[in-house]
Amino acid sequence: MGLLIVADKKQETRTIGTGLVGLRNLGNTCFMNAILQCLSNTQGLRDYCIRREYQLEGSGSGKKRCELMDVSPPLSQQDAQEFLRFLMDWLHIEINRKTRKTPNIMSLSGNRMSADNLERLRDDEKSMQMWKRYLERDDSKIVDLFVGQLNSTLRCTTCGHRSITFDVFCDLSLPIPKRLAMGGRVTLSECLNLFTAEEELDSDNAPMCEGCNQKKRSTKKLTIQRFPKFLVLHLNRFSFSRYGIRKSTTYVEFPVFGLSLRQCASDKAGNPVYDLYAVCNHTGTVNGGHYTAYCKSGGRWHVYNDSRVSLMQENSIVSSEAYVLFYQLDETRSIR
Ligand SMILES: [Zn+2]
Repeated sequence: MGLLIVADKKQETRTIGTGLVGLRNLGNTCFMNAILQCLSNTQGLRDYCIRREYQLEGSGSGKKRCELMDVSPPLSQQDAQEFLRFLMDWLHIEINRKTRKTPNIMSLSGNRMSADNLERLRDDEKSMQMWKRYLERDDSKIVDLFVGQLNSTLRCTTCGHRSITFDVFCDLSLPIPKRLAMGGRVTLSECLNLFTAEEELDSDNAPMCEGCNQKKRSTKKLTIQRFPKFLVLHLNRFSFSRYGIRKSTTYVEFPVFGLSLRQCASDKAGNPVYDLYAVCNHTGTVNGGHYTAYCKSGGRWHVYNDSRVSLMQENSIVSSEAYVLFYQLDETRSIR
């Protein structure tokens, strides 16, 4: 949090800079630097830190910090997305407006509801009920800005019985479709389609169907039920196998303006439209990689490469090195 705050603690009047400040590399810390630059260019979060709104909310006690000692940062992989998740989780615990015991932002996710008396409600009403339950324990600026809700629907192929889970998310990890030809291109839309594609769960993975009262072949489909103000999309370039970690260098074409997510939305979830404001890039290989950030600041795009910050052309934003994309909801163009 301290890194995001520009102000001098002792002064009442604060000098707020341009935000065009690099971060020194302290030895393989480029993955942290790139993510911090993306977050510090997230307007809602930056304002919250600079205005120290967390003090007004009365959160952030020393006791919570002690509990955090058990949460070890996943820094061994030096993966920017893992660091982002860790940092979001950490910030959330620090500034949670509700007191709580379980130190995990995702802890209340995954309440399957078919046995519940909420069953008679419509899907969007159920999701609202689950969201309210979530907010009873997890309510922070991080939730206000970044947390959305996924709808995971299982459907029995025999009797058609449906069961729905509503999970919260801070970012979506998107698969990249395989292209046989080298230098093959895919679009972000294709990644999103693959993410929300209906998946067959065969007999090995078959869930218990409450209609048939036994394990039955089912389909599973993900849709987005609730869209966050700031949508973080992780392009899942790294895959793990027994031969080690592999990186996909597929060029994923993504829009800088007007990303429509109608195709991923649940029924009655509207037609949200997003604009890009930051990208975390990974260059190089699994073992010898480097992270940089492209962020929009004051209406212009800049490259943040550790301690160096420089202007860049908007037409260079999209590249095969893009790894984590940060989008902001355009409230004026979105249909709720
Ligand atoms: Zn069934």
